[in-house]
Amino acid sequence: MTFELPTLRYEFDALEPHIDARTMEIHYTKHHAGYVAKLNAAVDGTEWADKTTEELLKNLSDLPESIRTAVRNNGGGHWNHSLFWSVMGPSEDVGPNEELAEKINTTFGSFDAMKEKFAQAAGTRFGSGWAWLTVSEQGELCICSTANQDNPLMADLDMCGCTPLLALDVWEHAYYLHYQNRRPEYVSAWWNVVNWTAVNALWTNACSASSGSCGCS
Ligand code: MN
Repeated sequence: MTFELPTLRYEFDALEPHIDARTMEIHYTKHHAGYVAKLNAAVDGTEWADKTTEELLKNLSDLPESIRTAVRNNGGGHWNHSLFWSVMGPSEDVGPNEELAEKINTTFGSFDAMKEKFAQAAGTRFGSGWAWLTVSEQGELCICSTANQDNPLMADLDMCGCTPLLALDVWEHAYYLHYQNRRPEYVSAWWNVVNWTAVNALWTNACSASSGSCGCS
């Protein structure tokens, strides 16, 4: 097995009441595990089995057509959920660090304005997808959304910065048990479980870690 389900650093019920334990359990053990299994099935026995998820997703056009869609969907699913779990955690009294807070203010006007724009990206994504706060190679923040399991690493999208700081799953499987059709309520509640310690670390590493061309529309 090349790709593996990452260890979840908190219990399934740790994000209650904002994200319920049953949703977390199914999401992690069924949905995410399913993406991992299908990604492994797609690359097993090929030269692509040795690559990292990032390498696969940044170079989808190099993949043989026979596995390209499977890697896009399941590699995207694996990468997106791995980030999603890591930028969430039990409540803690930490926000963006000083530098990130300042960048949010200068980019969006205020923290609340950033949240509003993020909620709009999450709320207007038709069907299944993700909302993102990303940082471009130039160090600029932007907010966008992607369909399905697409993400900002995928070069053909060319729609936002290439290093995500925040990832929010807006597939119905992420919220339907608890919120049913009330996606905006889920998006609003989600801020209570953002792990800012992890987000701040992503921000600090963003510029040195990003490579390849990306921009912020
Ligand atoms: Mn999901």
